[in-house]
Amino acid sequence: MPLNHNHSHKRHKRFSRETSTVNSRVLSSKSHKNAKKLVNKTQKKFVSKYASISFSYDDKSYPKNYQTPTIVPHAGVLSKPKEGWIHITIKGEPFERGFQHGTILADHFPYIKKVLTFMVKQDFKESLDKYMKTCAKVIKPQIAKYHPEYLEEIQGISKGAKVSVDFLIAWNSLLSMYSYYKNKNTQRCSAFIACGKATKDGKIVMAHNTHSDYATGPLANIVMRVIPTKGHSFVMQTYAGYIASGTDWFLCDTGIIGCETTISNINYLPKFGSPYFCRIREAMQYGTTLEEYGEIMLRNNAGDYACSWLFGDINTNRIMLCEIGLDKYNIEIKTDGVFYGMNAALDFELRTLETNDLTFEDFTASSGARSARLHSLLLDKYYGKIDIDIAKDIISDHYDTDKNRDKPSSLTICKHSELDAETKNSFYPWGCVDGKVIDSSMAQKMEFIGRQGASCGHSFNSKKYIREHPEYIHWKPVLRDMPSRKWVRL
Ligand SMILES: [Zn+2]
Repeated sequence: MPLNHNHSHKRHKRFSRETSTVNSRVLSSKSHKNAKKLVNKTQKKFVSKYASISFSYDDKSYPKNYQTPTIVPHAGVLSKPKEGWIHITIKGEPFERGFQHGTILADHFPYIKKVLTFMVKQDFKESLDKYMKTCAKVIKPQIAKYHPEYLEEIQGISKGAKVSVDFLIAWNSLLSMYSYYKNKNTQRCSAFIACGKATKDGKIVMAHNTHSDYATGPLANIVMRVIPTKGHSFVMQTYAGYIASGTDWFLCDTGIIGCETTISNINYLPKFGSPYFCRIREAMQYGTTLEEYGEIMLRNNAGDYACSWLFGDINTNRIMLCEIGLDKYNIEIKTDGVFYGMNAALDFELRTLETNDLTFEDFTASSGARSARLHSLLLDKYYGKIDIDIAKDIISDHYDTDKNRDKPSSLTICKHSELDAETKNSFYPWGCVDGKVIDSSMAQKMEFIGRQGASCGHSFNSKKYIREHPEYIHWKPVLRDMPSRKWVRL
């Protein structure tokens, strides 16, 4: 029998009380004074080691003589790119691990700056400078107040990568700020999690693909293992410079795994609050049960980046849906069955009160079409049989429920708006930029299987795309090729 803690304020209060120890641990963990001392100490210690190393997104320009994996004592681990993925490990105190992160990935930031400048102009009609000032005003004080540990980590990245703290905060805040500027979330991702009678071996299977513009999407090719001095270690898919995942795909040494899909068309402005990326980061590092994940995600919730979170605990073989808006939330736990996400809130009250979404049951819209398809695949065709191979098939699926045909489009689980002539913004450079699957046995080993580029393996050639769709010529400087890659164990 699923537990339903829907909108229970009593429950919410209990959550806050239970985790006050977690919060005080975070708050007392470091002070800014200590961080300053560490800057000088760690700079001397690490900078010289990395002085001659240069890295790039491009596999070909990777240093030929570089061994894999390379372990530099106290300064992180960088493995050679694998099918487009870059694996790094960072370890230690907040500033120290941030410094490792920034130093190892320093060469990524000039391009990130170019992409961020383009995206805030394109989507928010703002200059980078003005956008950074807005983030410094509305987000930075919240990180300092609620998550000083993560501000220190950002300071470490800043020092290592030689980019400003305000730039990093603006970069980390990009998804949060869509709800601030546009008063709605864009549609990002398809996902599901299953356990018990729904899966072949009765254990947990989870899958996710990221839907994104084709400028920022391909930048999420970092697999980062974080081993913090305090709390738990975890692995996440992420972008250079991020303290949380961004695509929201992670696995933790606590046995908890998670992902999310956004809830689109929210009808409110966020009230910062603890930004979402700090809350999920805290959950990954300090949450030890599904209930604690719920507590942490709701604590000081800003309503930014409303999401349907899917979490699984391989120790208890339970899965959880955690839909969070601003004042409304819906938490359900199952030991048998499936939760899936496709950018519409499943909870009726949240959907009707905090969104303007009318697409939930509309097959002509992306959420409605994908909801019908996910339902049919997960709860009918593959129920009881779901395993890693089926998870790959589902997350790569191109069946268009509206047109009853197998053809990739903006309506398919593996989304391809760039191929779709029949939408409002036809051929928009947006869609699926990766695929990830995991089961309980992989989670036990802190591994997952991922694919860079569309889950289905279709390639995207930016030159060809611009040639065929010159209306998007202004995207040319920031679009990246996404070649067809293999699924690979990470
Ligand atoms: Zn596809």
